[in-house]
Amino acid sequence: MNDEMDFENRIVSPTEIMGENDSDNPLRPRTLDDYIGQDKAKENLAIFMEAARQRNESLDHVLLYGPPGLGKTTLSGIIANEMRVNLRITSGPAIEKPGDLAAILTNLNEGDVLFIDEIHRISRAVEEILYPAMEDFAIDIVTGKGQMAASYHLPLPHFTLVGATTRAGQLTAPLRDRFGVQLRLELYTPEELARIVTRSASILHIPIEPDGALEIASRSRGTPRIANRMLKRVRDFAQVLSDGVITLRTAQIALERLEIDELGLDANDRRMLTAIVKYYRGGPVGLETLAAAIGEEAITIEDVIEPYLMQIGFLNRTPRGRCITKAACLHMGFDMPDAQDGQIRFDGN
Ligand code: ADP
Repeated sequence: MNDEMDFENRIVSPTEIMGENDSDNPLRPRTLDDYIGQDKAKENLAIFMEAARQRNESLDHVLLYGPPGLGKTTLSGIIANEMRVNLRITSGPAIEKPGDLAAILTNLNEGDVLFIDEIHRISRAVEEILYPAMEDFAIDIVTGKGQMAASYHLPLPHFTLVGATTRAGQLTAPLRDRFGVQLRLELYTPEELARIVTRSASILHIPIEPDGALEIASRSRGTPRIANRMLKRVRDFAQVLSDGVITLRTAQIALERLEIDELGLDANDRRMLTAIVKYYRGGPVGLETLAAAIGEEAITIEDVIEPYLMQIGFLNRTPRGRCITKAACLHMGFDMPDAQDGQIRFDGN
C-alpha cells in the first residue's frame, strides 16, 4: 500500500474514508439534547434558535469551524430538525459556477437550511452571488450579452446558510462578516467521547463496559468520527476473539493489533515525529519540507495530523517551523535531540 493511501485510509483519520457512508448514519444525533459535548456552542445555538422561533423568523446564518469529524455536518442537521425545516447539503468545491448556486438558492423553501461544507473553497464568482443572497435574500442574474443583456432581480425565500470550514482564516472577511452566528467546535475530552461511544454502542447493539468505552475514547484523538470508527473495529475483535463484549482488555488488545497506541497515535504519526527528530534534530522544520520528507501533502498535515499532536503538547508551531516537544520524545522513547543552533525549544512540557 503506498503511503498516501495509507494516510487517507487510516483508522485514526478524522476525515471520511473510502467506502464509509456517513450521510445516512444512524449514529448521527438528531436533536441538540443528543449532541454530546461542545457545551458552549450548544448553549448559544439553543438560545439563538429559540429566539428565532419566538419571532417566527429563520435563524441567522451560522458559521461552524473546527477540525474535521467534530460534528459540523451533524449540527447542521440538528439545526434543520429543531427549526422544523428542510436541509440541503452541498459543498464549496461542488458549486462550480454562479449558476449552480443560483439554481440551489432558487429551489429553497422558506426557512430552509442550506449547508455548505468546505465553504472556504467556493470561488470568488460564486461568493459574489452569496453576498446579496445572505444579506438581502435576493440575487441578481444577468442574461445575454451586449445590447441583449438583461438583468433580473430574483427574490429568494428567507433561508439559513450554515457554512462549515476547517480553516476560518481562509474565508474572506466580507463572507465571514455575513455570518451572524459563528461557532468554533473544539476537540472532545475522553469523557465526552466515552459518552459518544456508549451511545453509539447502544444504537448498534454492541455490549460494552464503561472502561472499554473510555479506552476507545482515549485513543480517538478528540474526534467522534474516529471514536465511532474504532468502536466498529474493536467490535470485530471482541466478536471473534472473545464473547463479543467490549471490555478494557479486548479494547486494548484490538487497538494494539491496529497499531494505535494509548494516545491514539498510529504508525503515520510516529513516522512524522520520527522524521522531525531524525532528519531535523527535533525542528524547527518548515511545513513544506516536512511534508516532502514524509511524502504527505502539507494541507493534510495541517488539517488532519497536527491539531491533535498540538493539543496533546507533542508539537509546537513556531514562526520558523514545527518543533517536537519533550513530552513527545518521552512518549516515543527518543533521546532528546541536541539543540540546533540553540533553536530547539522543548517548551511543550
Ligand atoms: P464534520 O462535519 O465536522 O466532519 P460530522 O458531523 O460528519 O463531522 O460528524 C462525524 C460523525 O461523528 C457523525 O457521523 C456523528 O455520528 C458523530 N458525531 C459528531 N459529533 C457528535 C456529537 N456531539 N455527539 C455524538 N456523535 C457525534
